[in-house]
Amino acid sequence: MVTRELLAPRSIQVRTLRAAIFDVDGVLLASPHERAWREALRGFGESEGFTTAMYQADVAGKPRLSGARAALEALGVPDAAGRAVAYAARKQKRLEELIAEGAVKAFPDALRFVQAVADLGWPMAVASSSKNANEMMRSIRLGSGQSLLDIFGANVCGRDLPRGKPDPAIFLLAASELHVDPFQCFVAEDAPAGIKAACAGRMEGLGVARKNDAAGLRTAGAEVVVTSFDDIAVEELAEGRLRRRPA
Ligand SMILES: [Mg+2]
Repeated sequence: MVTRELLAPRSIQVRTLRAAIFDVDGVLLASPHERAWREALRGFGESEGFTTAMYQADVAGKPRLSGARAALEALGVPDAAGRAVAYAARKQKRLEELIAEGAVKAFPDALRFVQAVADLGWPMAVASSSKNANEMMRSIRLGSGQSLLDIFGANVCGRDLPRGKPDPAIFLLAASELHVDPFQCFVAEDAPAGIKAACAGRMEGLGVARKNDAAGLRTAGAEVVVTSFDDIAVEELAEGRLRRRPA
């Protein structure tokens, strides 16, 4: 009989997690990015084709200009690269209007989970490529009187980096600011590009599939995919393992 030990490569490392990195939009906050992208398309004559599936696959998690270009390309708009600047600017304007209107809401399961991880005493970071993430998180107040942003020890949201997700740079920077080996971090992400970035940085990917898009997150390399953070076994996490709660 061949045992698992004999089949495992000698270099395999057992992962013991001890820090958490969170994407913001779609993970912690129901932020109106997708709506702003869609509404900003009016005038480009292509708003029909802008679906949630396309947004998740091509736009979510990317820096603004790359996202604009990817969306226009996916929609077959001529001169996508040239028109991306104008589209990105219109999207930003619409997003700021939506934030001012109070369109940003926190996911209750995310607030519970972040508090549970904080209670474990783990270092935690937020890492969104969005330049609007700080303002959005500051607008969410916790029971303790803190803002959502105050609970994180490191914040690398909106930093100017040479490459966006799926490049791991933003998550590696977060791990570095937490003073934790990336291999001991998990990354909670709702976009395949973010999961790919986590894996490329040797971190464990926790896919948060809030929009019936679990398959794309699994394909991208997520170790665990949940539709709510309530499905994560916090007792297992305390031991350094990312697992679903038994059904
Ligand atoms: Mg996201």
